[in-house]
Amino acid sequence: MPNEIRVLPESVADKIAAGEVAERPSAIVKELAENAIDAGADKITVEIKNGGVKLIRVVDNGCGIPRGQVKTAFLRHATSKLRNENDLYSISTMGFRGEALSSICAVAKVEVITRTADEEIGARYVTDHGICGEAEDIACSVGTIMTVEDLFANVPARMKFLKKDSTEAGYVSDLMTRLALSKPDIAFEYLCDDKTVFSTNGDGDIKNVILKVYGLKFAKAVTAVDYTEGDIRITGAVGRPEELSFGNRTKQTILVNGRYIKNHVIAKIAEEAFRNTLMTGRFPFFVLNIEMAPELVDVNVHPAKTEVKFAKERELYDIIYHGVKSALYGERPAEKPVTDAKGRGTFRDIGSFGGARPTREKIPKNTVKNYIEYTKPKVDTAALTYGFENEGHADKEDKKAPSEYQTEYKRDFVGREAEYKPRDTEDVKDTMQPSSHPDDFDVQLGLSDANANIFEDCKIIGQVFDTYIILGSQDRMFLIDQHAALERFGFEELKEAYAKNEKLSQLLLTPITVNLSHGEHDTVMNNLDIFKRFGFEIEDFGGNSLLINETPIITSDEEIKSLFYELLSAAEDNIKHPVADFEEKALDMISCKKAIKGGDRLSLPEMDKVVSRVEELYGRGIKTCPHGRPIVISFSRSEIEKRFGRIV
Ligand code: ADP
Ligand code: MG
Repeated sequence: MPNEIRVLPESVADKIAAGEVAERPSAIVKELAENAIDAGADKITVEIKNGGVKLIRVVDNGCGIPRGQVKTAFLRHATSKLRNENDLYSISTMGFRGEALSSICAVAKVEVITRTADEEIGARYVTDHGICGEAEDIACSVGTIMTVEDLFANVPARMKFLKKDSTEAGYVSDLMTRLALSKPDIAFEYLCDDKTVFSTNGDGDIKNVILKVYGLKFAKAVTAVDYTEGDIRITGAVGRPEELSFGNRTKQTILVNGRYIKNHVIAKIAEEAFRNTLMTGRFPFFVLNIEMAPELVDVNVHPAKTEVKFAKERELYDIIYHGVKSALYGERPAEKPVTDAKGRGTFRDIGSFGGARPTREKIPKNTVKNYIEYTKPKVDTAALTYGFENEGHADKEDKKAPSEYQTEYKRDFVGREAEYKPRDTEDVKDTMQPSSHPDDFDVQLGLSDANANIFEDCKIIGQVFDTYIILGSQDRMFLIDQHAALERFGFEELKEAYAKNEKLSQLLLTPITVNLSHGEHDTVMNNLDIFKRFGFEIEDFGGNSLLINETPIITSDEEIKSLFYELLSAAEDNIKHPVADFEEKALDMISCKKAIKGGDRLSLPEMDKVVSRVEELYGRGIKTCPHGRPIVISFSRSEIEKRFGRIV
């Protein structure tokens, strides 16, 4: 092993540094665009070809580089942004390490054309994969044009690490989206392979940026955030949860003083403000810019500067939570519920002061009745049935007393895991306290052999809350959650159809248009077969739009779109990090949308049909809905007797 210690030649050191700063085209675009932002530009055009490998060009109308300093700008640790150590702690510019240009030059051909306002004539300077040229005079407008070509031509090892051009272009598109969102007052134009992907107008309105980068669907579904407490201000926009939600967090952007950062804690806190308005596994849309004194933010903890540390963390978290809440719900909730002339609360009113309805309430209802066709009763249905009236049903909230709204809203606001379930349903759950842990089932049901007929000797007693089927035998009472059961039935059927390669799609009378980001559009177009397999027949509709002609579910357009977006983000994730259960997940999404959402009164034969199928599934060891919630819970006779104090 050689043991002579030597200082690395500059060219090697630059290449190593380039590994960090100029890792891939998107990283280079980031550095160049940030330089343009720091130069005070209000118009920045970014152009890439072949994912940025062939060409990256960033044109800005900023301050330009003085002619005499062009060469210096390309030296390592050359920066105009940091003079001494103290500046490090109050950084308000994007760059300050002085490493970007030197690193990029080490691995690509770079041309800069630049002029300052003070100078009549500009400068052109070219370096070719680390070999410097001489600056020459050139006539040009004020600002800077940076052109980066033939990336990694001299470092084949790095080249190998690059992904397909379309994937690299996708990374650049994501970056450009975030940059545009972070600087609404800069007009960004972004071109990929000679096509304009988006261009923002720089009017400072975040909603206009959202419109340009994400499309109309998003722009219509967001509410602006502007919330100040003390010396911290939160601005940006949040997606109304009933209109916009996603299967992952890629549509969440957090900025600090206009700089994109990654921070899971802040993301979680913002999500907390959406609690109870989104189904589990769904993530909200937001763009949040935290404005606070630069001294209170340490941006220097990560070389790419996407991770930061905060002083006053607690305070900040609080402000984020309330900032998002107030954008979603207007002012803090009033003490008294809004009531109509007769003193009854209405959901519309609730909405205006804060209680968001769970999204599922908007979904047109499939019914259990539609689902079940009559078959010969298997269990003895001659037993008594009770017509349980169900005043507090989820579809009939308007009948509830105002006090109930108040209770529900408060529960929501303090953030307890509560759905807008009718009060009495909750009561039953609270008092009976059956163990709902899947592992306890067999014990609860008194079953160790999964193949046993769990409902042997049972009579169907009836249905309660239009939601649960009650059965009883000599020594045990059972409750079947009919929705959980139906979700499972649907899932099993779909899985079967999928396994048999049956067509899952149905033709839509009117095709649905969806607007996507450039990257999403690419993902779909490159993976049409996957979408087809899950029942989506899709056609390119020009720009970044698609037409959905056939779908696996026939419900509202909104539902279909939301399923499509869900499937898309799952597919995107799966492409990045393939998972074994992707197909299961996709089928689950579909069956979930198909499943029955509201309550449904059943006739005895209909109940019997459910009971028989549940029993059959139990025989196969399937005891939960696809999301792991129990289908059946039970109470032993002695448990009930204990509660009545009959036995101790
Ligand atoms: P840093 O941004 O960390 O200072 P860079 O290597 O990215 O380091 O840039 C070096 C210097 O070159 C900057 O400090 C700035 O003075 C100058 N510079 C780079 N790009 C531009 C630009 N687009 N407009 C004006 N000046 C620029
Ligand atoms: Mg820089």
